[in-house]
Amino acid sequence: MAADRMLALLPTAAILVDSADNVRMANVAAVSMSIVKGARLEVGELEQLVRAVRRTGTAQTMEFVIDQGGFPRRVLTVGARAQPLDDGEVALVVDDLTESKRVDAVRRDFVANVGHEIKTPVGALTVLAEAALDAHDDPDAVHHFLTRMQREASRLSRLVQELLDLSRLQGGETPASADDVAVDAVIDEAIDRGRLVAEAKRIEIVRGGDTGCVVVGSENQLVTAVSNLLDNAVAYSPERTEVAVGVHHRGDMVEIAVKDQGIGIHQTDQERIFERFYRVDPARSRDTGGTGLGLAIVKHIVSNHRGQITVWSQPGAGSTFTLRLPATGPSRSVAGDEQPQSEASSA
Ligand code: ADP
Repeated sequence: MAADRMLALLPTAAILVDSADNVRMANVAAVSMSIVKGARLEVGELEQLVRAVRRTGTAQTMEFVIDQGGFPRRVLTVGARAQPLDDGEVALVVDDLTESKRVDAVRRDFVANVGHEIKTPVGALTVLAEAALDAHDDPDAVHHFLTRMQREASRLSRLVQELLDLSRLQGGETPASADDVAVDAVIDEAIDRGRLVAEAKRIEIVRGGDTGCVVVGSENQLVTAVSNLLDNAVAYSPERTEVAVGVHHRGDMVEIAVKDQGIGIHQTDQERIFERFYRVDPARSRDTGGTGLGLAIVKHIVSNHRGQITVWSQPGAGSTFTLRLPATGPSRSVAGDEQPQSEASSA
C-alpha cells in the first residue's frame, strides 16, 4: 500500500493500537526504536499514554527516556503523541529527540561558559575603573590601574575575536580561499607573531626539517593554527627554554610539529584540552591571557583542511603538538638544519 510505503520512509515512529492494546500497524522507525515487538508495545510509558488517551478521549503528549541497553549503552529521549480514533483505537507517533536534546544542552553550556568568561574581565574593568577614580590624586596608582584595565580590555577583545573565529570555523565551511599555501610562509608569519612574547621570556624559537612543502587551504587560517600552538608553547614554558617548529613531508602528508620544553600536560587532560574553554590550570591560563579557545580553534582549522592534530606530552618534560595536512607538490630536505624530534609527537 502506498500509505505503508510512505510511513516506512518517516524517521518518526507511527503505531496503531486497537482497543485490546494489540499493535495493528507499526512502521520501520517504530521497530528500530524498539518500542514495538510483534503485536505488543514494548514500553510501559506508551501503554500508560494509550490508556490516558482512552480515558480522557483527548490527544496527549509525553516525553520520556528509553534505555535500550547494549554496549555502548543506548539511551533515547523520545517525545510521543497519541490521538484517540474510533472504537478504542489509538494512533501513536514517537520522535527520537536524543540528538536535538544533546545539541540544546551543548548550546546552553556554551552560552553559560561564554557568559562566565565575559563576566570576569568586565567585572575586573568595573573594579579597576572605580579604583582609578578613587586614586585620582595619586598618578602612580592611576597609572597602575589603567595598565591593568588595558590588559583586561585586550583580553576581552581577544575573547570576542576568538569566539567570532570559532563560530565562523564551526560552520564547517572549507577555507574560503582554497589556494596553494607555502608552509614556509605560514611558519615565518606565525614565528613573527610570537617573537616578542618569546623574547620577553628569553625563549628561542628554532625551526627545521623540510622546506618547500605546499598544502591546499587558507594561509590565514593555517597561520592562526600554528600561531596558537606557538603561543601555547611559549606561555606554558619556563624562561630560557627552546621551542622548535619542525616541518616534515611524510608520504602524502605534511607534518608541522611544535615542540616545547614546558610544563607538559597530564594524560587525562590531553583528551580534553581541545574542548572549548577547557584549561588544565584556569588561573595560569588567565595569567598568560589565555581564553581556553586556542586549541578548539586549531582543531577546527585542521579539520576544515582535512587534517589531524595530535599531542604528545609528559608533565615536566614538555609537549609536542603535530598538525598533519594533505600535501601537494614537492619539498626539499635541508641538510644540517635543526631537527626537532617530531617522531616523539605521534600520539
Ligand atoms: P588557553 O587560552 O588557556 O591557552 P588553549 O585552548 O590554547 O587555551 O589550551 C587549553 C589548555 O591546554 C591550556 O589552558 C593549558 O592548560 C593546556 N595547554 C595547551 N598547550 C599547552 C602546552 N604547550 N603546554 C602545556 N599545556 C598546554
